[in-house]
Amino acid sequence: MENKLFIHNTLTRKKELFEPINPPFAGLYVCGPTVYGDPHLGHARPAITFDVVFRYLLHLGYKVRYVRNITDVGHLVADLDDGEDKIAKKAQVEQLEPMEIAQYYADRYFIFMDALNVKRPSIEPRASGHMIEQILMVSKILDAGYAYEVNGSVYFDVEKYNITHEYGKLSGRVLDDLMTNTRTLEGQDEKRHPSDFALWKKAQPEHIMRWPSPWSEGFPGWHLECSAMSTKYLGDYFDIHGGGMDLLFPHHESEIAQCQAAIGHESVKYWLHNNMITINGQKMGKSLGNFITLDEFFTGTHASLHQAYSPMTIRFFILQAHYRSTLDFSNEALQAAEKGLKKLMTGYETLVKLIATEKLSSPTPLPQGEGRIGEIKDACYAAMNDDFNSPIVIANLFEGVRIINSLADKKESISAGDLEMLKEIFTTFLFDILGLKNEKANDQRPLLDGLMQLVLSIRQKSRETKDWGTSDQIRDVLQKLHIIVKDGKEGSSWSAE
Ligand code: ZN
Repeated sequence: MENKLFIHNTLTRKKELFEPINPPFAGLYVCGPTVYGDPHLGHARPAITFDVVFRYLLHLGYKVRYVRNITDVGHLVADLDDGEDKIAKKAQVEQLEPMEIAQYYADRYFIFMDALNVKRPSIEPRASGHMIEQILMVSKILDAGYAYEVNGSVYFDVEKYNITHEYGKLSGRVLDDLMTNTRTLEGQDEKRHPSDFALWKKAQPEHIMRWPSPWSEGFPGWHLECSAMSTKYLGDYFDIHGGGMDLLFPHHESEIAQCQAAIGHESVKYWLHNNMITINGQKMGKSLGNFITLDEFFTGTHASLHQAYSPMTIRFFILQAHYRSTLDFSNEALQAAEKGLKKLMTGYETLVKLIATEKLSSPTPLPQGEGRIGEIKDACYAAMNDDFNSPIVIANLFEGVRIINSLADKKESISAGDLEMLKEIFTTFLFDILGLKNEKANDQRPLLDGLMQLVLSIRQKSRETKDWGTSDQIRDVLQKLHIIVKDGKEGSSWSAE
């Protein structure tokens, strides 16, 4: 079947046919985390959204290079931010090197993304490892005349850029509005225009993370790293740039301006943005007390959670909404997601068994089964091709479950070919593309149970024959593996710590 993937381009504000610049290659860049705190719900949505984009492009046969950066330079002196270097602040409080903080939280990010079954990108470049590229880009922008240096800091000249180009084209903001809405911050007096943003900042004496540059010992502006690293790994003009909608302005708007100024043309063909998550209708924020980390979700330890929610429940919940819609978290909605996911996984387990028995029976297709399964498959592809419409895919999978249950109850029958297709739909869409896993099924457990039974029976026999060498050896090895054996009247049981 020929696939025609349409994706919504934030820049043109319409759905466009996805035509990669250099097929069969497809380049995907997504803004990754700033690593100074434990990953929270806000990290999960873009990671899962673009994981599905990545998975679907791979499924369609593209050779995808997926780049997601790690912001490990504490340089959030961003012009609309509160001007605080968050990594350095945390390092000071915890008496650690800033890089220890960055490493610790990058590791935490990987652990939680793995739990959410988010595939690792092809490249995960770190801002701190790309100083040369960033400094080079600042030089190019200066050479092109779109930046100016003041006291060792370099600023992008937004006003000048806006004469020939449109600063605000992505976010729809107009420069005049920006002027009146921009807060005054320390160091802003160095700027010619309130909307100008830092490309390089001279470090104050107390600033720990600093690098040498032609202008001063300092650090790059936040927007710069994504422009430098995306074009380094994906080329001057690449296919998709993604991120959360909160990054539209000023981050992505400034990325467009930086690339235009440094390279002479824009670098991104399709801009994709996932919408935000609210909790009980409220924006997430530390001050609001609804800032829930993924750890708290998985363990149920946050005061506002009625229970723990598994990684797949979180993933399924996020995919139940289209990525461009807002998504509101509540206990009720999460519990409904948990139920829905269980229904899909139970349906799949039933389906696998149906195939096993079907093979023994007559493969004669029965008329009432004809057509419907093919329609479900087509509908799943049509939904994915319509700007990654995961909720429609899920609705079709539920229709599949309805058919499976009806087959299991022997209310309907189906041809062997249709059954195979139904199985293929579930493995392709539920597991490969939506990236969901059956958390109940642990493939290793039966094997482990069998082996432990064997070990314990050898141990029992060695004790009966007073072969203490063998029984001690078994005890020591199990201890090292943190396996606890409990001996009772009815025999021995075991558990892993
Ligand atoms: Zn970015």
